[in-house]
Amino acid sequence: MKNEKNRCIFLDRDGVLIKDVSYLKNPDDIFILPGTIDALKYFKMNGFLLIIVTNQAGIAKGFFSMDDLAAVNGRLLEIYESVGIAIDDLYFCPHHENGSVEPYNIKCACRKPNTEMIMNGVRKFGIDISKSFMVGDKDSDIVLAKNSGLSSFYVRNAMYEHDESIIPDFYVRDLKEVSRIIANLI
Ligand SMILES: [Mg+2]
Ligand SMILES: [Zn+2]
Repeated sequence: MKNEKNRCIFLDRDGVLIKDVSYLKNPDDIFILPGTIDALKYFKMNGFLLIIVTNQAGIAKGFFSMDDLAAVNGRLLEIYESVGIAIDDLYFCPHHENGSVEPYNIKCACRKPNTEMIMNGVRKFGIDISKSFMVGDKDSDIVLAKNSGLSSFYVRNAMYEHDESIIPDFYVRDLKEVSRIIANLI
């Protein structure tokens, strides 16, 4: 349709889209955060791709299995589908170098703030990084954005310690606020 490159919003899962319950294992424990459905619809309406990028070291640490993770992610995508939101892709990193479960207990190139998940999306969809965003609630998400050249939104939900020397482009309360800011940028 257009020959310009795609714009994308890369989204952290836990603490941004759904409640961070720490090592979520059961689809029944998914809690969609308030305002996120409207925000995702807004992004889609404005032509953004939506890609979830999530560290899931619980696999390497043996807290849940690949099947558990697939069930949780599958349910989440179903919930979005049921309200007309198509998530374009979802990437996860199952690794942790201090994990106990082979073959996931390795130092990898995909665990955020490493950029492999972002770069896979960029290549697959022809994404223009300079017109794209990362939304996360951990410093590693902001460092990931910086490492990738993405503009960054830091969701300040007080779940995790924040190093004030790691400065995002925007501090926000939630995804709804991200959509209000992007509305003024585009
Ligand atoms: Mg998070
Ligand atoms: Zn990894």
